[in-house]
Amino acid sequence: MAKVFKVTIDRNRCKGCTLCVNNCPKQVLAMSKEINDKGYFFSEVANQPACIGCRFCAFMCPDVAITVEQEEAA
Ligand code: SF4
Ligand code: SF4
Repeated sequence: MAKVFKVTIDRNRCKGCTLCVNNCPKQVLAMSKEINDKGYFFSEVANQPACIGCRFCAFMCPDVAITVEQEEAA
C-alpha cells in the first residue's frame, strides 16, 4: 500500500528563510505571495501528493514550523 504524507506548516512561525523550499527533493513546498502576521512571505504546501515523507523540511526548519505525518492511504 502506498504511503501518504501530510505536511502542515504553521505560517505564523515561519520567517521566510526558504530553507525548506530549496531543500525539498520533490518540490512540494513553495513561498507564498501573501505575508504572515510577522510580515514575512511564508512557506506553503504546493504539491502535497508528491511528498515522500523524508522530513528534511521539518528537520531543517529553524523555527519548528513544519510537521509531517503519515496518513492511512485510501
Ligand atoms: S517531507 Fe520531504 S518530500 Fe515531503 S515536503 Fe518535506 S522535504 Fe519535501
Ligand atoms: S524552513 Fe521554516 S522558517 Fe524557513 S521558510 Fe521553511 S517553514 Fe519558514
